[in-house]
Amino acid sequence: MIIDSAAWDLLAKKANMPLYQLLGLEKKDIKTSITVSIGEPDWVYERAKHLIKTFNPYFLKIKLGSNAGIEPDQASFLAVKQAVLDMNQPNHTQLFVDANGGWDVKGAKHMMQWLHQQGAIYVEQPLKKGEESYLPELFQDRPLPIYVDESIHFVSDIHNVFGSVDGVNLKLNKSGGITEALRIYNIARGFNLKCMIGCFSESPHAIATALSIGSLFDYVDLDSFLNLKECDKVSKDNHLTYKDGYLIQSNHPGIGVINAI
Ligand SMILES: [Mg+2]
Repeated sequence: MIIDSAAWDLLAKKANMPLYQLLGLEKKDIKTSITVSIGEPDWVYERAKHLIKTFNPYFLKIKLGSNAGIEPDQASFLAVKQAVLDMNQPNHTQLFVDANGGWDVKGAKHMMQWLHQQGAIYVEQPLKKGEESYLPELFQDRPLPIYVDESIHFVSDIHNVFGSVDGVNLKLNKSGGITEALRIYNIARGFNLKCMIGCFSESPHAIATALSIGSLFDYVDLDSFLNLKECDKVSKDNHLTYKDGYLIQSNHPGIGVINAI
């Protein structure tokens, strides 16, 4: 990914324009979800309140798929929902879930019905990577849109999920960079799939690269750099700005980073 990002960064810098502009995309402030990590419900509640107070997000992504089963997952979701209510944000902050492949088909069907009733807007990776053959059963009569993450690394993975999911979650560190991510994006759109872009625990450099193509996506989940202790300094140096639920694209050439990758 580093080489791919560096190549695109260099190309845009040679053209003296931001990478999004080189790719023919408009400059756009982009809503990003903020992730609530998996944990005990009491901790999840306090963490969600802290994240709402600090970031005022439009979307909270709730990590579920607990080894302990569905009941702790439901307790964690309810803890976040309560935090949103207690912070007076029910009309501002929407909730979605990343199960990280932690459910079996029966559990996923049960949880998706329950999450729909609780107001979640979609679910990511309900089943483990490798269990894509069970997705059609889940897709039929689904109460919530299904996105896959770990099931999609490269464009050649799309045929495993086409017709049995609503969308795909791309990450540059899965696909190896923007080049393959754009191939996946274009093929996915060609098959009428929704697209989101996410991240691992990544540096502002990596987030800035992904943000360059962020305006293409239905949902953007590029928040991990906000967890860095030196976030303020690092982000300032890299022209990477988060404000009131939005990531702000840089006006600087390339991916917007001053120092070399
Ligand atoms: Mg995920």
